[in-house]
Amino acid sequence: MTTIYADNAATTEMSPTAIAALTDALRESYANAASQHRMGQRAAAALLRARREIAAALGAEAGEIYFTSGGTEADNWALVSAAHAGACVGKRHIVTSSVEHHAVLNTLAALEREGFEVTYLPVGRDGLVHPEALSAALREDTCLVSIMYANNELGTVQPVASLGALCRERNVVFHTDAVQAVGHIPVDVRRDNVDMLSLSAHKFHGPKGTGALYCRRGAPLEPLMHGGAQERNMRPGTSDVPSAAAMAAALCECCAGMEETMRRVTALRDALIAEVTAHIPGAHVNCSASPRLPGIISLRFDGVDNETLLMRLDLAGICCSAGAACTAGAMGTSHVLCAVGLGREEARGTLRISLGAYNTADDIGRIAAELERSVSALRGTWKGESGT
Ligand SMILES: *Cc1c(COP(=O)(O)O)cnc(C)c1O
Repeated sequence: MTTIYADNAATTEMSPTAIAALTDALRESYANAASQHRMGQRAAAALLRARREIAAALGAEAGEIYFTSGGTEADNWALVSAAHAGACVGKRHIVTSSVEHHAVLNTLAALEREGFEVTYLPVGRDGLVHPEALSAALREDTCLVSIMYANNELGTVQPVASLGALCRERNVVFHTDAVQAVGHIPVDVRRDNVDMLSLSAHKFHGPKGTGALYCRRGAPLEPLMHGGAQERNMRPGTSDVPSAAAMAAALCECCAGMEETMRRVTALRDALIAEVTAHIPGAHVNCSASPRLPGIISLRFDGVDNETLLMRLDLAGICCSAGAACTAGAMGTSHVLCAVGLGREEARGTLRISLGAYNTADDIGRIAAELERSVSALRGTWKGESGT
């Protein structure tokens, strides 16, 4: 029995291209990119190439890309920088949504302890932040708005360009956590009216522990730490050239094949939804009417406990999750599912299947069949083949 990996929202398998870029750079560009000799220059050139490629993939300029240790660091850095810049001119109000990742929510909680005031915009059952709601929440003293591009539990895609346009009009810094979107759907920082944007390589087949922050020229950024002059004096420490090169290679590959991958993964997603809703009574797709990512499906089964279901799926060789990986260990009810109006029981019956470029039609057949078997077994209604 081969294992099926359907937890791509938690992390992805590195692509062979990204692995090759990583090992090539480890072998050939290992010198310190700040060194003056030829080896240092070679590393610096590789770093610049990665920066340019990542910028191009986002419609940005190379000078607007800052390498980080991942999405969490990029989120922390963007929010703290914009908040502190706001405080300097007496603006201490921040707006976000109630479905953000903990990297955003917990950074904002820390800023609240520093004296900032945060408005958490509610979302409807569709999981979306409506521009009118944002418009009504903006105040004279609002310095920052942070709304994620696409949600990691529901797959819902926010109307980012409209939200960004509102912020631009009101002269408020707009940050978006685009960790689930970059590499999967078209993202363009100019079209989307974004000032700051976070991305993470391991969510698009690059290595873990590396990511980037896009910061529009002129948007407020303060040094993350104190040290050397790397990243234009903003993020000191010897540059991780191999990781940056691998991230860029992974992203270029995703962008080159994006339309095709989107079409293929969307077809797999829709086939799985069709199978499951046709054969399992009491099966629902959360936020099914909203714009969603190709790969993430938030499935809900009436009267089923997701922890037990996950265990059965795992025994059958299928890896997926209940929700965000970082909260799955401490099985509280997901704040995201609560925010879209699901009750405790409904949240407990929710499973996240996140497909990626490497899933096949065969995987979908096996996942659907196992879901049917497991859900009926857990409800005590399984009448399938004898002996199972
Ligand atoms: C995974 C994820 C993060 C965290 O990124 P890391 O690189 O793992 O720190 C932040 N936001 C969202 C929406 C994510 O899915």
